Amino acid sequence: MSTATATKKAHTVKPPKVKDQPLLIGGKWLDSVSGKTFDTTNPATGEVICQVAEGDKADVDLAVKAARKAFQEGPWSKMNASERGRLLNKLADLIEQNKDELAALESLDNGKPLRDALAADLPLTIKCYRYYAGWADKIHGKTIPVEGPFFCYTRHEPVGVVGQIIPWNFPLLMQAWKWGPALAMGCTMVLKPAEQTPLTALRVAALAQEAGIPDGVINVIPGFGPTAGASISGHKDIDKVAFTGEYTTGQVIMEAAAKSNLKRVTLELGGKSPNVVFADADLDAAVDGAYFGLFFNQGQCCCAGSRLFVEDRIHDQFVEKILKKARSQKVGDPFDAETTQGPQVSQEQFDRVMDYIQAGQQEGAKMLTGGKRVGSKGYFIEPTVFDNVQYNMKIAKEEIFGPVMNILRFKDVDEVIQRGNETFYGLAAAVWTRDIAKAHRLANSLRAGTVWINCYDVFDAAAPFGGFKMSGIGRELGEYAMQNYTEIKTVYVNLGS
Ligand code: NAP
Ligand code: MG
Repeated sequence: MSTATATKKAHTVKPPKVKDQPLLIGGKWLDSVSGKTFDTTNPATGEVICQVAEGDKADVDLAVKAARKAFQEGPWSKMNASERGRLLNKLADLIEQNKDELAALESLDNGKPLRDALAADLPLTIKCYRYYAGWADKIHGKTIPVEGPFFCYTRHEPVGVVGQIIPWNFPLLMQAWKWGPALAMGCTMVLKPAEQTPLTALRVAALAQEAGIPDGVINVIPGFGPTAGASISGHKDIDKVAFTGEYTTGQVIMEAAAKSNLKRVTLELGGKSPNVVFADADLDAAVDGAYFGLFFNQGQCCCAGSRLFVEDRIHDQFVEKILKKARSQKVGDPFDAETTQGPQVSQEQFDRVMDYIQAGQQEGAKMLTGGKRVGSKGYFIEPTVFDNVQYNMKIAKEEIFGPVMNILRFKDVDEVIQRGNETFYGLAAAVWTRDIAKAHRLANSLRAGTVWINCYDVFDAAAPFGGFKMSGIGRELGEYAMQNYTEIKTVYVNLGS
């Protein structure tokens, strides 16, 4: 959808009323075994939206039993691959038919501007399911010319029951990146959405039921990381865990996976991505790209261009343009069509970002604009720009995950390659220049899973995404993601002498 249509829509949609939410196990909507619930809140007001069933170990155990049964005995395990593809397409259709409702739920629970949810989260989610619908009947093994009187072939089989733990920054999309390939491959799954944003995961699960995906294939257990999440990563009967979130949580998950049953692990973790602007770039395009690359989604993007390297010669010009942009944003109600920046997702994230802003000031970076709370309720922060940021400052090293831009100066190509790689992260990078040789030199030299040249935050369901170094293990999206959900079996047949 174009931004113009999305904006028009935003005028007409009201924040939805939401009932208390159960969890989903084996096709049944249930209270948690403990009977406990938790609040999910609206970050624009701090008010409680509704109660959500709080899953824990007992619920995860039941969900894994249901998923195992569906994997081994249910209609899912006997279904033709093309039929799995048809069901995935039907799910995509249903999400599309309900996109206004889903976008509103996402904005309500997460705080992102409704127009962004309509223009980005929903179309990307729908395309992701459609893309993997296409894969369902195109997964096959090989025949291999081995020595001796043997016929040898491989089968590509689903890995089994998978656990999926997702964050709050793109709830619908992170669910689609996990469910799309897992469903195409024929796995069954137990998903824990983030405690801050459980609502759209539950709604899409209901649409999956409506699409005809059999009971037990999809189970959703809302709850907390150290209880529900840890029960997934440490479960002995889960074959694989896929996680998106903070690298320290990734370490805990990998350890639990290793100690329980050596389940397969894929991790999509954070970043501190270099965004490099050379003096020969199209300056206005670079300013727009740098702004979008950092402030999109309230700065809550794992691939945010949070180390913005600007070549010395254009520094002052660049800063002037970025400041103009930052000062012209409308921070406020996500349901207002004029809003370009909503609240941070929670009080905890608000506090964390404000602490980083304080740290930047204390360490001597120059705050050119922003730095304050907006309004008196909700978790709104002014778009904030720091200049004169030095590589050893906390704000230049750690993932802030908020609307805080850090500008670092550089003089030449070798220097910026070296400094760009001075981080334990390696999720993304970008370069802005008209010199094609320079652009490719950076693309080859920066150690990151994705490099954007003269663009930022371009995503496509067909192209892989994931991290080098401590930004993760494995790739999501594209054909590459199918591997995460595949086991390879080798079969030898004795053809006799
Ligand atoms: P997080 O703790 O890594 O949360 C991500 C998911 O992991 C949530 O579903 C969380 O549950 C779950 N989890 C937490 N502890 C767990 C455990 N011991 N075992 C299994 N699962 C567990 O991230 P966060 O606390 O929400 O955010 C903190 C920071 O992480 C952010 O400021 C940002 O820097 C980074 N982050 C990165 C991404 C990304 O896309 N790379 C996304 C979100 C956050 P709960 O819902 O209970 O927390
Ligand atoms: Mg919420």
